[in-house]
Amino acid sequence: MALDELPGDPYLGLLGEAYNTQLVATIRLLANRRGPASLRLLVVDAQDRALRNAEAALSLEPPILSLACRKGCHHCCWETVGVLAPEAIHLADELRGRLTEVELSALRRRATRRGAQLRDVDRSARSQLRLPCALLKDRCCSAYGHRPLACRWALSPGLQACLDLMVHRTTPFLWMEEVRYQPIQEVWRGLRDGLHETGLDGSLLLLNCALATALSEERVAERYLEGEDVFAKDRLDSGDT
Ligand code: SF4
Repeated sequence: MALDELPGDPYLGLLGEAYNTQLVATIRLLANRRGPASLRLLVVDAQDRALRNAEAALSLEPPILSLACRKGCHHCCWETVGVLAPEAIHLADELRGRLTEVELSALRRRATRRGAQLRDVDRSARSQLRLPCALLKDRCCSAYGHRPLACRWALSPGLQACLDLMVHRTTPFLWMEEVRYQPIQEVWRGLRDGLHETGLDGSLLLLNCALATALSEERVAERYLEGEDVFAKDRLDSGDT
């Protein structure tokens, strides 16, 4: 039974709706417009939908704990982050339109270096590396408004819990209130499944590797839409989420 078919639970209905509307929107958008602009539209639409559903979920099921996440707190930006290809392409486009050639070259070098360090390493070895995201600048995300969906659902109720998981490594798990992250994850799942449905690559990619690839040349979006396996070397190991 699908989540939205469970009777009498508005919160589960909201999750089902978040997934279904994103899935349908992805299929429709890619069926009708297959140019690079459709990818931009797709990602912006998914980010808006994630925000709307996150806000609706919070008013439906107010969380118990307040949020510890604050500007300048960047511990999760040193962890492995998974993205979908359209997210990486959109991020690269946005940065290309905003940064100077010098800044862009420096970012491309940083992302390429991080990508080389992260590729071909398994998940546990990768997390031990603790490398900062190439977009992290002065302890803040330099692409905050365009950050991938996975960065948007990292919402912690406690700094100490984050430090224990990511810095001290004394716990393998970070507890977060479901209402904060599930609506965003459902939108992400709808986007991923929509890509699969339309025959596009919807695999999970390492953010910095995929960003380096997306920044490496201007035709990445066209090649991705033509079905070329552009991000083949950027995939997270199977089993990673
Ligand atoms: S994209 Fe931004 S929020 Fe996400 S890991 Fe990189 S610096 Fe952090």
